[in-house]
Amino acid sequence: MIKNKKILITGGAGFIGSHLFENLIQEGNNTIIIDNFNDYYPGKEEQIEEIIKKCSKSTEYSIIKGDLTQESIFNKIDRDIDIIFHLAAQAGVRYSIEHASEVTKNNIVSTVNIYEFALKNEIKKVVYASSSSVYGNPIYTPLDEEHPKNPISPYAVSKLCGEFYADLYFKEYNLPVTSLRFYTVYGPRGRPDMAIRKFFELILGDKEISIYGDGEQLRDFTYVSDIIDGLILAGEKKEAIGQVFNLGCSNPIKVNELVEKMYKIVGKNKNVRYIEKQKGDVDITYSNTKKANKILNYYPKIEIDEGLQKTFNWQRIYYKKNIV
Ligand code: NAD
Repeated sequence: MIKNKKILITGGAGFIGSHLFENLIQEGNNTIIIDNFNDYYPGKEEQIEEIIKKCSKSTEYSIIKGDLTQESIFNKIDRDIDIIFHLAAQAGVRYSIEHASEVTKNNIVSTVNIYEFALKNEIKKVVYASSSSVYGNPIYTPLDEEHPKNPISPYAVSKLCGEFYADLYFKEYNLPVTSLRFYTVYGPRGRPDMAIRKFFELILGDKEISIYGDGEQLRDFTYVSDIIDGLILAGEKKEAIGQVFNLGCSNPIKVNELVEKMYKIVGKNKNVRYIEKQKGDVDITYSNTKKANKILNYYPKIEIDEGLQKTFNWQRIYYKKNIV
């Protein structure tokens, strides 16, 4: 548990960042968010406002709206920070295929700028959000950290570059940085471009779901609170410095099975069609988390049935309030 520290979360207005923010302020940490509130999807301002509304008066936080690719933004950030969680990125595999140059510049330049800032200010710990997409299509499963890296989208290459820079800054300049490879994260406030959020919305609206490919692709869906636990463990453990870890659930299911479960939860009949497989999508994501078990003491707690129910409980209310 991280308590009474000064923390910077980049991308803190996004899906995972907002959960981390909520957790850290609840534990009495003085938490700073920096985010450019990009328009990849709407609702980030409202999301953060809602979290802040629930805070007690003594909660210390600040929200900086700014772009990490601009060096001038770093003048606005306090220098006496204990831990940086670097989550800011232009997410989305498919988006990156259509906007390769934008994603490349955004994700790589902002990551290098954060490492430079951390180095100059002797920040004690940096945690970098990488992705299971760095592996590409698996040669064997479950994927351990040593599995070859064959990224198949500009997004995945940009995430791998962030790891290479982490390695460089650690080995050459002693920057205390840890990289975490997240596996398909879902939960309340999930990104609207991701399957679970998108599918629940379509089912609630009695609309047809489109599944890419034959739906037999395996996904290691990981509930957001497990990812937050992993981030916090990586932030506090000295043994994690200079290392890369998989953060997944290690219990993948087929997209077809996922959809069955989702219709059952909502209580509606299946309405599905299959469309062409998307470029950049890998066939299997399946994490081996033994390294994270051993060094971070990371053990995911939320299985898919419970996670889907929790997500639906949130989304049903969100849907009534904002969509209908
Ligand atoms: P998200 O899009 O909800 O959050 C990212 C946030 O970063 C957004 O709020 C965005 O406005 C901000 N941002 C982007 N570029 C910025 C810049 N130049 N300066 C300042 N802010 C900027 O995405 P998410 O799903 O919460 O993902 C968080 C991190 O986790 C990302 O680094 C992503 O690559 C990584 N990741 C996510 C998943 C997943 O399943 N959601 C899986 C693997 C890795």
